[in-house]
Amino acid sequence: MQLSVVTLFPEMFAALTDWGISGRAVKRELITLDFFNPREFATDKQRTVDDKPFGGGPGMLMKSGPLIAAINQAKKSHGTEGEEVKVAYLSPQGTPLDHAAVVNLAKRERFILVCGRYQGIDARVIEQEIDEEWSIGNFVLSGGELAAMSLIDAMIRLQPGALGHEDSAKEDSFGNGLLHWPEYTRPQDFENNRVPDVLLSGDHEAIKDWRKKQSLISTLKKRPDLISWERLSEEERTILKEFTDESRC
Ligand code: SAM
Repeated sequence: MQLSVVTLFPEMFAALTDWGISGRAVKRELITLDFFNPREFATDKQRTVDDKPFGGGPGMLMKSGPLIAAINQAKKSHGTEGEEVKVAYLSPQGTPLDHAAVVNLAKRERFILVCGRYQGIDARVIEQEIDEEWSIGNFVLSGGELAAMSLIDAMIRLQPGALGHEDSAKEDSFGNGLLHWPEYTRPQDFENNRVPDVLLSGDHEAIKDWRKKQSLISTLKKRPDLISWERLSEEERTILKEFTDESRC
């Protein structure tokens, strides 16, 4: 995947490119990441990228000129003059991102992400240049960089070869529509709290069944909105029914 990020703060992305799974994926070129800074496209001596909003009000807005010039340069770098590459603006007003959306976005070969700052960006940039808007939640960040990094990190995890084990992403929460089961590591006994016996049994079938049950129960307890009763198998419904009956006692 070729990813371009339009940002006033490209240095922030070192958190992605220099560390962990995302850092390894960048080094192995599973994803190429480049940056376009609107400040470099500002034409005045001070390299101004912001200005006051018309109509008054607090704060500043990112000006359209340098931002559109940076987006156009990013499009050119994809060699398509922008016809095949989608330009997304990270925005609290965007469609909320979820697992299904990230799975689809991660399949793209090229993608441009635009990060806002200040009170946001001139509305004409959205009208003229932005194909889609994505939000990471119903709250407001100071800039689009952390949102872009969250999305990029989530897309990287889904690139073939990015994780040590191919099944990891499938087994993660949301991969099969449910939350991941509880996990334990050594010691077996921590402050009189023992790891469930089944996990020490070496019985792979029993461990698989236990994990499935715990996954269902965790989802029901923590995120009941994710449970789609009509899509559950008879066996899964029985597990959850037994759990709710036991909890009532
Ligand atoms: N005035 C804007 C509003 O109320 O919709 C908020 C601007 S916010 C302070 C500055 C920038 O942070 C935005 O332009 C956007 O790029 C980014 N941002 C803030 N919250 C976000 C969120 N929940 N998801 C994605 N990006 C966000």
